[in-house]
Amino acid sequence: MNRYADIAAMRQCRASWQRQGLSAALVPTMGFFHEGHLSLMRRAKTLADRVVVSLFVNPMQFGPAEDLASYPRYLERDSALAAEAGVDALFTPTAAEMYSPNFQTKVVVSGLGQGLCGASRPGHFDGVATVVTKLFHIVAPDVAVFGEKDWQQLAVIRRLVADLNFNLRIVGHPIVREADGLAMSSRNTYLTKEERQAAVCLCRSLIMAQDLAQHKETVVAAIEKAVRDFIEQNPGFSVEYATVVDGASLMPAAKLDENSLLALAVQVNGRVRLIDNARLFC
Ligand code: AMP
Repeated sequence: MNRYADIAAMRQCRASWQRQGLSAALVPTMGFFHEGHLSLMRRAKTLADRVVVSLFVNPMQFGPAEDLASYPRYLERDSALAAEAGVDALFTPTAAEMYSPNFQTKVVVSGLGQGLCGASRPGHFDGVATVVTKLFHIVAPDVAVFGEKDWQQLAVIRRLVADLNFNLRIVGHPIVREADGLAMSSRNTYLTKEERQAAVCLCRSLIMAQDLAQHKETVVAAIEKAVRDFIEQNPGFSVEYATVVDGASLMPAAKLDENSLLALAVQVNGRVRLIDNARLFC
């Protein structure tokens, strides 16, 4: 596996593959790899001749009070894991390489990026859309793989690709979970042992919501309240949102149908923010 920290070298690598007629898949990440990231990489290998993983903790998608400084960074560990997963190139630019002092451009997906996480993290999806646009230009992938764990991000990227006519395919990959059901996340590492044990309530609340929707409950607000109450039984757990939305438009659902998705964001002791989601009818 080759590692590139500068944009020019990454472009050269891609150009040489292009001359050989080789296709490329991109997996954008912020690192501290877990099985969720690795399964995206393995999926990417089935979709193209070569796989590029970008590892960049993007300052533009973090709010001023968020965890940019403390976000786990373990480049050598991640590099070994990516190589093992069969990645061909790891792109690890610095913030200075990606954002010149004069940087002034922002990509805004105005509708899909506003609600849910966009409401509590203003500007977050502008940062995501901007960096992903840059990565698409630098790597010129034929396909890019994103996790369904970040459902809203995936929806924003699909919109971005359609609206700006990027010539590439977006593939969504199912959520990879721990044995007890907690969605894998680099941020799970911030949880204490007790918080980690209690965090299983997120995925359990999703299963409860599916059960309610499929068997007895037809009122959206009743499902949302049941989920909120279930999670907030755990000391220190506070629901930021538990909202039934249409899986494509992300608009709050007025009534349940086959596209209904429950999206969740939970604060743990005001220190750790966890997200999860599930379709209500699978
Ligand atoms: P991150 O490094 O957290 O920005 O994530 C990089 C990519 O991995 C994103 O497309 C995420 O949606 C995806 N991802 C993160 N955690 C998971 C997971 N548990 N299952 C599936 N995909 C994931």
